[in-house]
Amino acid sequence: MFDPSTAKQTYDVIIIGGGINGASVARDAALRGLSTIVIEKNDFASGSSSWSTRLVHGGLRYLEYFEFPLVREALHDREILLRNAPHLVNPLLLTIPIYGDRSRPYWKIWAGMCLYDVFSFDKTVPEHRMLPRRKFKQLFRAIEGDGLNGGAQYYDAQASLAERLCWENLRAAIDAGGVALNYTRVTELHRDGDRITGVSCCDELDGQTFEVYGHEKTIVINTAGPWVDRVCATAKMNGKPAPIGTRKMGGTKGSHIVVSPFPGAPDSALYVEAKSDGRPFLSCLGSVNT
Ligand SMILES: Cc1cc2nc3c(=O)[nH]c(=O)nc-3n(C[C@H](O)[C@H](O)[C@H](O)COP(=O)(O)OP(=O)(O)OC[C@H]3O[C@@H](n4cnc5c(N)ncnc54)[C@H](O)[C@@H]3O)c2cc1C
Repeated sequence: MFDPSTAKQTYDVIIIGGGINGASVARDAALRGLSTIVIEKNDFASGSSSWSTRLVHGGLRYLEYFEFPLVREALHDREILLRNAPHLVNPLLLTIPIYGDRSRPYWKIWAGMCLYDVFSFDKTVPEHRMLPRRKFKQLFRAIEGDGLNGGAQYYDAQASLAERLCWENLRAAIDAGGVALNYTRVTELHRDGDRITGVSCCDELDGQTFEVYGHEKTIVINTAGPWVDRVCATAKMNGKPAPIGTRKMGGTKGSHIVVSPFPGAPDSALYVEAKSDGRPFLSCLGSVNT
């Protein structure tokens, strides 16, 4: 809800979007002593951050594209989250069945597992292990055995309550003097050449409009997730539309199917490639909070 005093001050950092990225940036900025405001049009974490699979992972598949620095950074961050938020981020055992007729042969998955271990040399979760075919069949009796060569098991992590992780970042930002507004939409970016100097906002609950201003060194950070381009398109200079940059968001799509527990269901997460078209899918055991 809008507090008139919010608009009367200027901020060092203005963050648009209160998902996990906006919340984390807000925490980091506020803890560094910067005056920070984060503005969210809906509930905090109501966007992609609440619709993700909630894995806290190092990006195993990026190894195929030789994105080693990215994987190392993500594995390092995974470890930080496991240590800093053990009440929210838990180790997750994943199993990959390896079939002879799929795109990734046994040796490639083994090599990926070894690299994943090397890049997470400072981890607290166990290293990977390869499962020969017979061992795999013992552990996963219900999994299709035709063409099976074995499997690989490794650890990543999962934040089952991802919204709470987001909120705890915001709480830390607020405790450090930051301001967090929800149900407040950024309707316009005020552009002056290459700089954004402030934003116009609308309180989604009562329709009240107001401005949030920066100063000459203010940084405005667009963490609007899939809406990043829409926010960029609201920029105006001298009252005239002056959208920023070209399209940045390509978009990605995934589906989550929730089923009741059934006999023979695997008791660890499985990462499998569909036989029909090679699309990856993840099967996870978990509880659903309604
Ligand atoms: C199917 C799927 C599964 C995924 N699984 C994983 C996973 O397992 N692990 C993982 O790490 N990542 C996963 N991701 C990616 C992850 O969800 C995103 O990278 C992450 O949630 C992005 O967070 P964000 O804060 O940038 O965006 P969001 O969470 O979308 O937050 C952006 C916020 O901006 C707000 N906003 C938009 N416009 C305005 C405006 N004008 N004014 C004010 N606020 C505005 C929105 O309401 C929204 O809350 C997955 C993504 C998909 C699609």
